[in-house]
Amino acid sequence: MKKFMRVGIRVVCAVCGQSKAPIGRSISALTSDSYCHYECDGYRKKPYAGSLFPNETEEDFGFPISDDGTEWKEVESEVGHGYGKTSIAK
Ligand SMILES: [Zn+2]
Repeated sequence: MKKFMRVGIRVVCAVCGQSKAPIGRSISALTSDSYCHYECDGYRKKPYAGSLFPNETEEDFGFPISDDGTEWKEVESEVGHGYGKTSIAK
């Protein structure tokens, strides 16, 4: 079943040039070096980081998120997923 939902995109930091780590998500020590995170001056500046990893859908995440660091995409959704937002108004 296809439906529209927010999908994470790569947000590149204007200061260090790395991809911004999603806000509040645990990044393993192994991958933290390749992400811009809260210690960088640019992390909290535009373009703002969102809550999703690139290509992760809001349904996969399952919690309310902002529009930052996402784009609306039509994606294939598992039926009977059981969590996540299933209705998108607007
Ligand atoms: Zn940075």
